[in-house]
Amino acid sequence: MEASFHFLYILAMELKQFEVPLLQKNNIPQVIEKILGKKVFNVHIERLALDYRRKGNPHYVCNATFSLEKDSREAPQNLCTKTLLKKYPKNKSMPSEVSIVGAGPAGLWAAYALLLNGHKVNLYEQGKPVEERFRDIRRFLKSGIFLENSNIFFGEGGAGAFSDGKLNTRSRTEFSQAVLGDLINLGASEEIAYLSKPHIGTDQLQFLIKKMRKQIFELGGKIHFESTLQDISVRDNCLNSICINSKWQPCEALVLASGHSARNIYAMLQAHGVALEGKSFAVGVRVEHPQSFINETRFGKGVDYKLTGAADYTLTGKTAYSFCMCPGGVVVPCASEPNGVATNGMSYSRRNSPFANSALIVPYEVDKSDVKSGIAFQRELEQRAFEMTGKNYSAPKQSAENFLAKKSGDYNLWDLMPENINTSLEAALYEFENKMPGFIKNGLLIAPETRTSSPLRIVRKENGESVSVAGIYPVGEGAGYAGGILTSAADGARL
Ligand SMILES: Cc1cc2nc3c(=O)[nH]c(=O)nc-3n(C[C@H](O)[C@H](O)[C@H](O)COP(=O)(O)OP(=O)(O)OC[C@H]3O[C@@H](n4cnc5c(N)ncnc54)[C@H](O)[C@@H]3O)c2cc1C
Repeated sequence: MEASFHFLYILAMELKQFEVPLLQKNNIPQVIEKILGKKVFNVHIERLALDYRRKGNPHYVCNATFSLEKDSREAPQNLCTKTLLKKYPKNKSMPSEVSIVGAGPAGLWAAYALLLNGHKVNLYEQGKPVEERFRDIRRFLKSGIFLENSNIFFGEGGAGAFSDGKLNTRSRTEFSQAVLGDLINLGASEEIAYLSKPHIGTDQLQFLIKKMRKQIFELGGKIHFESTLQDISVRDNCLNSICINSKWQPCEALVLASGHSARNIYAMLQAHGVALEGKSFAVGVRVEHPQSFINETRFGKGVDYKLTGAADYTLTGKTAYSFCMCPGGVVVPCASEPNGVATNGMSYSRRNSPFANSALIVPYEVDKSDVKSGIAFQRELEQRAFEMTGKNYSAPKQSAENFLAKKSGDYNLWDLMPENINTSLEAALYEFENKMPGFIKNGLLIAPETRTSSPLRIVRKENGESVSVAGIYPVGEGAGYAGGILTSAADGARL
């Protein structure tokens, strides 16, 4: 503790960058009291991050505010957050009745924020409630039985429901903070408000989604499951009606939160003159390692990993980078269309699987004017992978050593991906080996990772409406303005 004292400075009852031993994570007021030699009150943790830099001695680094006198006006001392939940501001351009398509994070939070502002909301989701969806996914992972509307991408909770449940975002906005506050109110741990890398895991996410559903019902919202948006009609550049399960109905405002895997939605929008733009994304593989190797490399030896939790990493090379790292997780094969397979990472709240995985991806540049080639490229890779493994929805694997030696093990990924992607991955593997010795020897590559972000953008105005068709409000990852659970939910709430 004393060793880090010179890093500290005290500013109006704020202590920054002070060290917290792993064992003291839940005793932060006492840590501050020990540093200051004074009693402190109303401690509020602003940020808590695990610092790996001193090998063999990982610890937390914390920023906190507090007072030196008891403030009787404040609630009893509470380690968590200031009240995060703000009332979402009203969107004045929205009519009183709104239809939403997609019950992923963006659609759920758009529904919630609109309901809080007194709108009437009908939310249409092509998939099933999360508990029924869970059974379909379990069957898919066990037996390869694929359902088009109920899978790892589609169903209540969206693509986020069966994910790693990381709640990272590059920039925290008042909306992402408010979403974190909502999640805490729904039952998530208060830690997510201040941890630098909050994580809740797929088990917790499913539980929170059920509570969000209940909240939407209590506010008078309607959720229609197994209800697919098939078409829209547009008159004089204004949305006129929508077709759900073959039934047309008038619609003045449609919040489109269909995610980036709803490829048929993009085609349908394009046919009606809704402005789309090509968007660059990235493709590559998942690389899996024993978690013990990652823990030892990152934390050092002799550390109690139960206290640190599973270690992660972020690696950036000249030609490729790591993305969406899942410590203590599993690689899952995913499909949203028949006859194609992609990969992604998933974990439970305890992150206690013996494996770590991360995407290892290469940028794939797409021109704005090109609205076809992104999806076509993703599809081609996914279909080739499906053929390669005998059409059973498992994903092809190859050890990193065999990949570099271009030697077939079970499969040869050089036959799956284009030469330029493979050579970029090859170069990155050597770079990462220099940064984390053993990265190659311990690495297993699983491919293809194609759904990293949206390959298209549904171009929208400042108020969130489509630039070309009034009444359509694209939000979330599928709109191409957000990526990840938290930013997609925040994008829905912001609208
Ligand atoms: C396995 C996996 C792991 C991931 N891990 C993480 C992670 O740890 N952290 C993170 O931040 N992000 C993660 N992501 C990404 C994250 O899930 C997405 O960024 C996020 O879910 C996007 O939210 P969204 O609401 O915009 O769209 P989605 O979550 O894609 O939801 C769209 C919904 O719309 C529905 N829909 C589509 N078309 C129609 C239609 N025609 N009619 C009716 N409904 C329709 C779909 O069924 C779906 O439920 C992961 C994704 C996957 C697949």
